[in-house]
Amino acid sequence: VIELRHVDKHFGELHVLKDINLSVKKGEVVVVIGPSGSGKSTLCRTINRLETIDSGEILIDGTKMPEEGRRLAELRSQIGMVFQSFNLFAHKTILDNVTIAPIDVLHKPRKEAREEAMELLKRVGVDNQAAKVPAQLSGGQQQRVAIARALAMHPKAILFDEPTSALDPEMIGEVLDVMTKLAKDGMTMVIVTHEMNFARRVADRVIFMDGGSIIEEGAPEDFFEHPQTRRAQDFLNSVK
Ligand code: ATP
Ligand code: MG
Repeated sequence: VIELRHVDKHFGELHVLKDINLSVKKGEVVVVIGPSGSGKSTLCRTINRLETIDSGEILIDGTKMPEEGRRLAELRSQIGMVFQSFNLFAHKTILDNVTIAPIDVLHKPRKEAREEAMELLKRVGVDNQAAKVPAQLSGGQQQRVAIARALAMHPKAILFDEPTSALDPEMIGEVLDVMTKLAKDGMTMVIVTHEMNFARRVADRVIFMDGGSIIEEGAPEDFFEHPQTRRAQDFLNSVK
């Protein structure tokens, strides 16, 4: 579904992504871990072309992402994003937050969009909050709305960038549970997280980044039990 070939990116002098090669298959759950500043968020934003790249290419279902234009917007809308900060529209109801893009971008009839949104809100367990505005919800509830909003676009994959790191501890579990369910249902997901137990449980493949490069990748049981590189060993010891 997603393929990166030799992707390079600089922020000025900083070489933030170094020759990244990554392919994510349909239904696969790829967890990205690594120290702060290693380029995980930049990688996520790059996949969706929220960041430009210096060289290399990014393909979505075999189609190369163009630099700009309508085709880029179209491909981008096929990849959902869930961020650390929930990024909901503060002055719109929960239901509107989930229906705006399907109505505006997919041109779905309003009634159909609302019915589907209610089903999605039910799936993430917040259908009873539909008429409220985001500030009236807990962080965990807001993040679950953000997931429902991503699902409403019928994305080919969803990218999660530390979806639980802004949450109070007691709310982390409810968001991880929703993500675990999605993974079981076959959603293609790329997840940046510091929740190592969750990573081990849900990942088909773990990618360890450091200094803008993919240093190691493998099945979770191999990576967590037998990290090959010193850098991965040090990182895992530091988060234990
Ligand atoms: P964290 O775990 O703290 O979220 P990360 O792995 O997500 O870290 P990135 O946010 O991708 O790291 O940042 C990688 C590097 O790029 C960092 O050194 C950061 O300071 C730098 N960086 C990120 N965004 C920009 C930007 N817009 N302009 C310049 N430098 C940036
Ligand atoms: Mg980050």
